[in-house]
Amino acid sequence: MSATNLKCRECGSVYELDPIYVCERCFGPLEVGYDNSALSRDIPELRRRIQGGPQNLWRYSDFLPLPDGPPAPSGRNSSRVGLAAGCTPLIRADRLAERLGLGEVWVKNDAANPTHSFKDRVVSVAAARARAFGFEVLACASTGNLANSVAANAAALGMVSYVFIPADLEAQKILATGVYGTNLVKVRGNYDDVNRLCMELSGERNWAFVNVNLRPYYAEGSKTIAYEIGEQLGWRTPDRIVSPVASGSLFTKIGKGFADWLDLGLLEGELPTMNGAQAAGCSPVATAWAEGRDFCQPVKPNTIAKSLAIGNPADGPYALELAKSSDGSIDSVTDDEIRAGIRLLAETTGVFTETAGGVTVATLAKLAERGEIGRDESVVAVITGDGLKTLDAVRGSFESFEIEPTFGEFTSKVEASLVGVQ
Ligand SMILES: *Cc1c(COP(=O)(O)O)cnc(C)c1O
Ligand SMILES: [Zn+2]
Repeated sequence: MSATNLKCRECGSVYELDPIYVCERCFGPLEVGYDNSALSRDIPELRRRIQGGPQNLWRYSDFLPLPDGPPAPSGRNSSRVGLAAGCTPLIRADRLAERLGLGEVWVKNDAANPTHSFKDRVVSVAAARARAFGFEVLACASTGNLANSVAANAAALGMVSYVFIPADLEAQKILATGVYGTNLVKVRGNYDDVNRLCMELSGERNWAFVNVNLRPYYAEGSKTIAYEIGEQLGWRTPDRIVSPVASGSLFTKIGKGFADWLDLGLLEGELPTMNGAQAAGCSPVATAWAEGRDFCQPVKPNTIAKSLAIGNPADGPYALELAKSSDGSIDSVTDDEIRAGIRLLAETTGVFTETAGGVTVATLAKLAERGEIGRDESVVAVITGDGLKTLDAVRGSFESFEIEPTFGEFTSKVEASLVGVQ
């Protein structure tokens, strides 16, 4: 399967594989088109080939818009260098399932990527393409995790980078970006202001903005989560996916990844029911869903889930379409529910997620409570980022003891106060 062109999602106009992202005719978004006529129809052979690939997302090179064909045996002189994203754990979460009254629940832990969020997948693909286009500067408009990933990937590839973020981002994310030696630009405004500035800059500077002029390539990286889940479940689809929605790109591309592989015959099963998750403080897609609209009205974000704080989501309409066609939904949860979701996941699985993961788990809990999930269903919760990125969200959510270093202090202050608790 090789990438052949860019295609407008609205009017179908076709373009060359260039660093462009909007249709000249209708201003619709462009998406990568593929030709899979050269791909083997021998499914066992195709699966073996994937399994024999590298232990990272480049094992799915055949299904990504990479510039230079199949992987070079040595991995050198190929675009596929730098940080090795992907192949993150899929964890069976029986205690979480039990707490929610569900049967089969899995956690896809994408916090286990090199910069601790799923963004390494999309940046890997965009950076490979950027290098092939001859760009020397990698850039992005970020809600936080993309900043981490662009700065780190640029460092790994020896590229210069410019990273634009809202000035009020979490301290942890700012520190974990600046450390890579990027040009870090804090913009006084929200993500949508940052994005508007970057769209203007991408017209004025010959830079690869991974999520602006390289967005069609960037977006394809998210399909690899679906491929991995399918492979990890033994070449079958789960019944249901719960995934966070910011711009809607991740959510829609997970759907596309499963659809591609079902079409090819690589996976058994059916398209999963797709449940999107947003924070109530920034829920343009969930609100459109609740009101039965097929378009989103922009909002001003105000939520602790800053990585999902996109008030004007580019792929909102496609996320709505996918939720509808897969018999799913797009829900929203409050900041308190997000905090509770983080704790619930941590206590039942040992996985500490950032606020976006709290949104996902809280939404899963909400769906379970509403009785929408059958006990015989297999459900995958997509955990997209690490809890160390948003430590403030759990501050004050638990008690601890401080004592003098004596046995007496331990029994009188710790054990005595725990009597009756356990
Ligand atoms: C970017 C991001 C998402 C999803 O973003 P989309 O714009 O919808 O693709 C989800 N979770 C985290 C932690 C993110 O950083
Ligand atoms: Zn068009």
